[in-house]
Amino acid sequence: MFPLAELDKKHVWHPFTQMQDWLGNEPIVITSGEGSILEAADGRTYLDANSSIWTNLHGHRNPTLDKALKKQLGKVAHSSFLGLANEPASILASELVRLANPIGFSEGLGSEATLSKVFFSDDGSTAMEVALKQAYEFARRSGLSESPRFLSLDGAYHGDTLGAVSLGHIDLFHKSYANLLFPTDKVMSPYCYRCPFNRAKPERADARTYRVCGWECVSKVEEACATKHSQGEPYAAMVVEPGLQGAAGMIAQPEGWLGRVSQILRQHGTQLIADEVMTGFGRATEAKDTFGKPVWFASHAENVQPDYLVLAKGLTGGYLPMAATLTRQEVFDVFLGPYEDFKTFFHGHSYTGNALGSAVAIANVTLLEKKKTLRQRSELAEALRNGSTALWDLPQVGDIRQSGLVLAIELVEDWKTRKPFSLKDRVGFRVCEALARRGVLTRPIGNVIVVMPPYCTTPSQVHQILTSLHDSILEVFPPHQVTEDNLRNIETF
Ligand code: PMP
Repeated sequence: MFPLAELDKKHVWHPFTQMQDWLGNEPIVITSGEGSILEAADGRTYLDANSSIWTNLHGHRNPTLDKALKKQLGKVAHSSFLGLANEPASILASELVRLANPIGFSEGLGSEATLSKVFFSDDGSTAMEVALKQAYEFARRSGLSESPRFLSLDGAYHGDTLGAVSLGHIDLFHKSYANLLFPTDKVMSPYCYRCPFNRAKPERADARTYRVCGWECVSKVEEACATKHSQGEPYAAMVVEPGLQGAAGMIAQPEGWLGRVSQILRQHGTQLIADEVMTGFGRATEAKDTFGKPVWFASHAENVQPDYLVLAKGLTGGYLPMAATLTRQEVFDVFLGPYEDFKTFFHGHSYTGNALGSAVAIANVTLLEKKKTLRQRSELAEALRNGSTALWDLPQVGDIRQSGLVLAIELVEDWKTRKPFSLKDRVGFRVCEALARRGVLTRPIGNVIVVMPPYCTTPSQVHQILTSLHDSILEVFPPHQVTEDNLRNIETF
């Protein structure tokens, strides 16, 4: 075993990892990377098919991002944001306000923009805490309710700090900490493939395209909001991942869901917190606006301007931990007053507004808008779409859903009944282990395989990822082990 791997095993505790399994295996130790490729200590190379846990946008060692970072290093790496401003953070804030307020969502830019105030923090979880606290205080101080509650979706995941966990509804992760959390309410996810109201029989297509329903998932939001409103305690906010719910299993929303939900929230005086930690910066949308410009946030693809836009992961192109919570002037204003009124937003982190993170994030925005990136993005989306069709041949593939540059493949025991594999069978992990042996790295979410490589991934690399996935599923489910039921399904298909 490599000495580095030994050191890791001796001292390191990895996130979301059963360390008993980890200690029994030889870990892959990454030593370098370039573009979509990561290289390990043993010299093996891998395609980074989940963009290093959904963070990387332009590939590793991107020359523009590297240059921006080096330039900032020549000035200063970090200075406190408590009581001091700094050059890159000010520029980044104005760039984020520009991106978050495309024409059509605001009268103009700057102070007239709808989302005009930026609060920096360190990662997705802390940016969610900021949004939660601001929304809570805004609701209280504007007289909506004394102690308003929050509404989120079944299967929601918004981070691992306790406020974010309170909004989460994944029992596997969250149940143990129930006594540490504040109560929140949940409504059903718009999960067409597993929706109890979807009357359509399974087909070999994305379940959103053949669903038969009456938007019952939207009615559930209306019911929840109306009930709270009639009790005189409207929700402070509903928290949603626009476009698709990532850690819930890449649950892709049907077109029109968010638009409808947002109207209901407005009617009931409930704010909308858009957690675009994963979906932001074009990851989950291919949409263009009426001027042919790319739509950078999944909320905007549904013509929705949230009250809070929460950003992390892709903000620095996957280089450094940094996050931002954008909100409206009205929210900012309820925290204004003479010091002795103590209306200050008493919240902040030591590395808030970090200069290196800000510098690389500005370069990320510049790169995003380059013609080359736009071309790469549309080629990648197309390659994912075309390359994934062959996967329908496999009887263990139940649903394939693509949202922008995210592809999710849900594996099932029986596609005709949508019967899921037991989580104890670790089907997703076994497929991903087989993928790693073929030089492709990604992480499953239960039985869902996620493919979301950096934007610079070429069509031939996508082909390699998807043929490797096909072969890996076949390796885990060799045709001779196919059950009687599956055989019947294949014959009838
Ligand atoms: N929100 C969403 C939608 C996420 O996917 C994640 C992380 N996967 C978070 C919040 C938390 O972000 P972080 O891990 O950076 O704290």
